[in-house]
Amino acid sequence: MQAHIAALKDSKHCPLWLDHDDLPATSPSLQSNQDCELLIVGGGFTGLWAALQLKEQKPEADIILIEKTFISDGASGRNGGFISEDLAHGESNSELQFPDEAQQLAELGHQNVKELLATLDRYGIDAHYENVGITEVATTPSFVEALRDVYEKDKAEGKDVVWFDKEEMQAEIHSPTYLAGLWNRGCLDGVVDPARLCWGLKRVIAELGVRIYEQTSLISFKQLKDKSMKSECSGGIITSEKIFFATNGYQSPVAKIKNKVIPIWDYQIATEPLTQEQLAAVGWDKFHHALANNFNMFHYYRLTHDNRITWGGGGAVRYYFNSNTGQNCADIPARFEQLSKEFFETFPQLAGVKFSHRWSGIIATSTRFCVAPGVGYKGRVSWAVGYTGLGVGSSRFGARIGLELLGYQPSKVLKMKFVTKYVIPWVPEPFRWIGVTLTQNALVKADANGGKRGPWLKMLDFFGLGFTC
Ligand SMILES: Cc1cc2nc3c(=O)[nH]c(=O)nc-3n(C[C@H](O)[C@H](O)[C@H](O)COP(=O)(O)OP(=O)(O)OC[C@H]3O[C@@H](n4cnc5c(N)ncnc54)[C@H](O)[C@@H]3O)c2cc1C
Repeated sequence: MQAHIAALKDSKHCPLWLDHDDLPATSPSLQSNQDCELLIVGGGFTGLWAALQLKEQKPEADIILIEKTFISDGASGRNGGFISEDLAHGESNSELQFPDEAQQLAELGHQNVKELLATLDRYGIDAHYENVGITEVATTPSFVEALRDVYEKDKAEGKDVVWFDKEEMQAEIHSPTYLAGLWNRGCLDGVVDPARLCWGLKRVIAELGVRIYEQTSLISFKQLKDKSMKSECSGGIITSEKIFFATNGYQSPVAKIKNKVIPIWDYQIATEPLTQEQLAAVGWDKFHHALANNFNMFHYYRLTHDNRITWGGGGAVRYYFNSNTGQNCADIPARFEQLSKEFFETFPQLAGVKFSHRWSGIIATSTRFCVAPGVGYKGRVSWAVGYTGLGVGSSRFGARIGLELLGYQPSKVLKMKFVTKYVIPWVPEPFRWIGVTLTQNALVKADANGGKRGPWLKMLDFFGLGFTC
């Protein structure tokens, strides 16, 4: 057996973050009909932040949150834990999609994470946040040039960024593949333990009086004559004044959400805890850089609180025909083997290290590659879905937009193109699968060609549809 395959042999198919003996108890499921002011559907970051923000704004608000499985079982308990100020999936996407608002979005994004962290402090939520910034590495000469351009631009804009040439980058984190690095340190970006964040938020909203029902699905809903909403859920009917959908990339009963997001599967692996010698062999004994390469199909990797490396992304990212979210996509050996192979290419000095966990999750991807909020049913139903791969921080802002769209302290944000711009729907199958697969193959090819984009990607760039993960 090849070494990178053997390294996965004893791994457990379970998100590292959720593999604890002290998981919080699951709340009871819905057992009877209920009434409330606001029904929140979905127990990930978006739903949890919506509940918390509304309770702080309006303590008397009567809120029910329902979650199909258990809180943190969606993308929120399965991600890489990179927390970013970005609201629109990176500066270049922000400038491409919302050129007049890029600066305002940057300011709102900073404010969002600042408030998020203040909330964690206020309620004593320890999500293992580390303000390490983000370090992008280049592994081919043309990607060095592209990274250098970003550095020059950031520097000119007065950002606190550090350039590492080959020797300097390899001295920080010891990978023979690194040719340069760019450390964005002057921001609130960093890493968290995402499940701890979910559980902390769950505790707080329960303390603030939100009624939580886990193992409870919304099956269908309709608007009654008096404009209130009647939702058929597993276990009972919930009648509410308003509904907020925080359902990410899952099948939605809301027609307007259905073609606005597609589920992209992302896979991750985590090593066993590294020894001090192994940490020193990589350089993570000094500073806990959180890293990503600047490929189109990029890897993201970081150190955990207990000295493991989590490693995800790259060419393993996939869309499956017909927006498949079934468990048959969750544990595909080839995806994990590819991740493992790329891990050891980056850190050959860790040969012999074993992976303890392997898991996957659904990234809800919109055609604008950031949250696609919306409202309907005469202002009674709103949603915030589609953060693509960057929702740990921005989901709090998505939740705020969802609440504002329902009339809770509406602000100038609702006038921004970020909220009002039409979200281009994904094309139906089989064109959807063909288009996404062609794009992913073209991105892999562009990465192999030092970033040179072929005609398909150039055409997508022209329409503002340049990447998919
Ligand atoms: C593998 C992976 C790695 C990622 N890495 C990062 C990262 O490092 N940094 C970053 O910023 N972002 C990352 N992301 C993205 C980020 O995790 C998400 O954008 C974010 O968690 C979205 O939160 P959410 O609450 O909107 O969705 P989710 O956490 O998916 O929550 C939606 C919930 O709705 C529930 N639900 C759906 N339908 C119903 C229904 N009908 N009734 C009741 N409940 C329902 C689901 O069960 C689910 O729990 C990653 C995502 C994945 C999958």
